[in-house]
Amino acid sequence: MTLNRRAFIGTGAAAAVALSAPMVRAANHGKPKVVVIGGGAGGATAARYIAKDSAGEIEVTLVEPTRAYYTCFFSNLYIGGFRELSSIGHSYGTLATEYGINVVHDWAVGVDNDAKTVTLAGGAVLPYDRLILSPGIDFIEDSVPGWSLASQNKMPHAYKAGSQTELLKAQVEAMPEGGLFAMVAPPNPYRCPPGPYERVSMVAHLLKEINPTAKILIADPKPKFSKMALFQEGWQKHYGGMIDWLGPDFGGGNVSVNPDEMTVDIDGAVEKVDACNVIPAQKAGRICEMAGVMDGNWAPVVPHTMQSRMDENIHVLGDATNQGDMPKSGYSANSQAKVAAMAVRGALLDTKVFPAKFSNTCWSLIETDDGVKVGASYQATDEKIAKVDGFISQTGEDSALRKATYNESLGWYAGITEDMFG
Ligand SMILES: Cc1cc2nc3c(=O)[nH]c(=O)nc-3n(C[C@H](O)[C@H](O)[C@H](O)COP(=O)(O)OP(=O)(O)OC[C@H]3O[C@@H](n4cnc5c(N)ncnc54)[C@H](O)[C@@H]3O)c2cc1C
Repeated sequence: MTLNRRAFIGTGAAAAVALSAPMVRAANHGKPKVVVIGGGAGGATAARYIAKDSAGEIEVTLVEPTRAYYTCFFSNLYIGGFRELSSIGHSYGTLATEYGINVVHDWAVGVDNDAKTVTLAGGAVLPYDRLILSPGIDFIEDSVPGWSLASQNKMPHAYKAGSQTELLKAQVEAMPEGGLFAMVAPPNPYRCPPGPYERVSMVAHLLKEINPTAKILIADPKPKFSKMALFQEGWQKHYGGMIDWLGPDFGGGNVSVNPDEMTVDIDGAVEKVDACNVIPAQKAGRICEMAGVMDGNWAPVVPHTMQSRMDENIHVLGDATNQGDMPKSGYSANSQAKVAAMAVRGALLDTKVFPAKFSNTCWSLIETDDGVKVGASYQATDEKIAKVDGFISQTGEDSALRKATYNESLGWYAGITEDMFG
């Protein structure tokens, strides 16, 4: 069955067609085809840049199950009450209508590397010349004994934003006076290194307003964490006595949970908790396994082009990759997507490809107008994406600088979401 691209521009009807069609073919057989799996920070950016910069010469299909993408970035600020949930939700309409991208709302469930096709849950088969994978993360089963995806409503992870984030916030708000909030922090490497600690700051901000005698307990398998000195200074300054961090020396790496009983066992000491955020250990999104591009838990890539080291027709972006020095962040995924988009255009249209350069900054909000950041620039070497130079906020900075840093993050959020979704 042959369908034209108009059938795939992200409408309900389009999804219905996609689900019932055994074979999807684009109208213009002559144009090279790129399929992008995952419409997040990496995938949406890559799809948009390839479509935008190839002036219609490459046919781009973006496969993403959800119709509204909620950014994990700024989802902690929603928990703290600094953002509405609706302000971090984005749709794919502009990518379809302004950039001519075929947006297909479905799950990719298989990749045939030899035939160069992707199979969707609805049965459709998408041919590609180049495939881009940016599926984000999945959780490693049993990494927190007692916790599984089946218990995510009792002990939310909130590490994929949307309903999980809403649930976690509601559970914090429902805590009894003087109750206990626990976080089980993840081992390295994981999505957004400062994310758990910004979250603790935002939970503390909320509790300070509605439940000031409540306590927060963090069980952490890591002896150090991102921006540690900055967070610990901020916690002392703004939330003195409320937050207790237990690193591995205090049993933070020996944790199990019982979601039915709402208990957390830290090195044999069992705590009854009123809300609990379990952030399990992570690995690349499952489609990377199906595409055969994994080595261990992550997908290794060639830094110059973001091509998989296992299949040169596949590029992998963002959190799913093992690439070197960049942290797993939205900023990194967006930066890597532009390198991949340029490489894909170069390969398919013979356009000029410039040396790959990358950058990242991770901002975190500790309390109202108290923003901090860490960042770096990077270059591609044959071995890895290598850090060139970096910067980090300092302890003891004055409040005007911290406020300026927070304002910078607001500008970044507006910019990156426009860069992703148009
Ligand atoms: C609490 C928190 C705070 C954060 N704060 C920041 C921040 O301030 N700054 C920052 O830069 N980063 C931040 N991050 C990290 C950032 O969200 C991620 O690093 C980024 O989203 C990674 O982009 P990605 O494209 O790899 O994955 P994602 O953005 O997660 O996109 C993956 C997409 O792929 C889709 N998908 C998965 N499997 C399939 C499949 N089989 N078929 C089709 N689609 C599929 C998913 O539905 C999803 O939409 C934060 C993360 C968290 C959890």
